[in-house]
Amino acid sequence: MPSDASAVDPAFGWRWDNSYSRLPGVFHSRVEPTPVSGPRWGIFNRSLASALGLESVLLEQPGQADYFTGNRLFAGSEPLAQAYAGHQFGNLTRLGDGRAILLGEHVDPAGMRWDIQLKGPGRTPYSRGGDGRAALGPMLREHLISEAMHALGIPTTRSLAVALTGEPVFREETLQGAVLTRVASSHLRVGTFELFSALGDAQALRTLVDYTLRRHYPERSSEPNPALALLEGVVDRQSALVAQWMRVGFVHGVMNTDNVALSGETLDYGPCAFIDAYDPATVFSSIDRQGRYAFGNQPKITSWNLARFAEALVPILDSDPARAIELAQACLESFPARFRRDWLAAYRGKLGLLTEDTEDAALIEELLAWMHSTQADFTRTFRNLKPTALLGDPAHAPETNPAAPTSTSSEPAPSDPRFLEWHRRWTERLQRQGVPLPQVLSLMHRNNPVIIPRNHAVQQALDAAAQSNDWAPFHTLLAALQSPYQESGAPDALRNPPPPGTPRCRTFCGT
Ligand code: AMP
Ligand code: MG
Repeated sequence: MPSDASAVDPAFGWRWDNSYSRLPGVFHSRVEPTPVSGPRWGIFNRSLASALGLESVLLEQPGQADYFTGNRLFAGSEPLAQAYAGHQFGNLTRLGDGRAILLGEHVDPAGMRWDIQLKGPGRTPYSRGGDGRAALGPMLREHLISEAMHALGIPTTRSLAVALTGEPVFREETLQGAVLTRVASSHLRVGTFELFSALGDAQALRTLVDYTLRRHYPERSSEPNPALALLEGVVDRQSALVAQWMRVGFVHGVMNTDNVALSGETLDYGPCAFIDAYDPATVFSSIDRQGRYAFGNQPKITSWNLARFAEALVPILDSDPARAIELAQACLESFPARFRRDWLAAYRGKLGLLTEDTEDAALIEELLAWMHSTQADFTRTFRNLKPTALLGDPAHAPETNPAAPTSTSSEPAPSDPRFLEWHRRWTERLQRQGVPLPQVLSLMHRNNPVIIPRNHAVQQALDAAAQSNDWAPFHTLLAALQSPYQESGAPDALRNPPPPGTPRCRTFCGT
């Protein structure tokens, strides 16, 4: 991004350069956070602050919680709420930041540009009937899960801080208010384009294409058809992102088009969770009664969301409307094959396959089908796969039960003939590829986490912090999630699936 203005706040290391604020007024509304009565710290992300080039020790002082609720503004920030629309559960609605305020963009020492946004700082012109506030539990969930996703190597927005407001928020019950400071490579979304397309504002669409290309796809900005270049870039990144979600068992929960970031980052952690037992129909969100955003539906919904993005771009894809639709369709039709490629690559990694074979898809699908029929734990099954019996390494002698858990568990061990037959085929496939065992294991360990934020553990940690002011479980879980691929000292209770009979926790939208 070209920077025609920048403001340095020497006290904290901020280098503000607010390019979105310089866009025409149709894109945003100026608004300041509404002060709260009792700002205090929930959590501050020291390592993220340092990575951003900020003075983490100074920022972490008790009095600075004022900045992270919006009671005080950093010098150089220019607060605004962004205008956008979005298809929510299939219906187009005019939205906008109703409970978020963008403070501005910080340019880190490496020259990377980051949106710094407060989530829950009070009403904005887009709040409709809402209070513009957020509750502590959902903000801690976003902090925990977005940081876990980052550690898993999946593109995501991050959380710099959660500060308590000292004020109640009223939902079905009275909860503590909190503000999360979100760090994102931007908050441009499919819904941003949908708004200006619905308003018939082709000029705004062109401005947005240009802005988004420069900010996220500079390598594509000299292509002859900018709107098409952007569409292709977004299709690529969404495909890659959702393949990664499928690799770790992540369920976003509200894949409305206003929550689809054009940067390709995971955006907006509401009723999100990770699957335990493998079941493509898994839904956690209490409001998703039809299973629209179920685990296994995420690729299809991504394709649907991308179609909404393409539609929004039609007015500027070509001066001939028929040609514009043709271009959009051709790009959308490439999605299934692209996604299949990304998904296969992710799952080959999980099975230690460094080469490609036409039967790989069947091999992967057969394992998933077995997991589904036996309700095997997704994370544990993959992590416990032993590729050893076949490669003649005496240090890894064949085991009677190749997927037996290494940790204490009440899970039934997979020793049935169907699994053993699958294991034999997998073994043959590994032998055919002829790659040494250490390389296979290393690939598998990089793709199969030991620990994920399991929903029952997340819920316990959030309840302890938000309801009993006991932050120890939250900090223990957050720390354990920092190195998800390493066998570590994380307590079994955080690594294991929920005890049998644990009802699936429902998560709420956090509004
Ligand atoms: P979300 O489901 O969090 O992606 O939010 C969808 C839309 O509702 C966005 O435009 C939000 O800004 C808005 N919204 C959610 N919660 C609130 C709230 N408490 N007050 C005002 N607007 C809200
Ligand atoms: Mg949202």
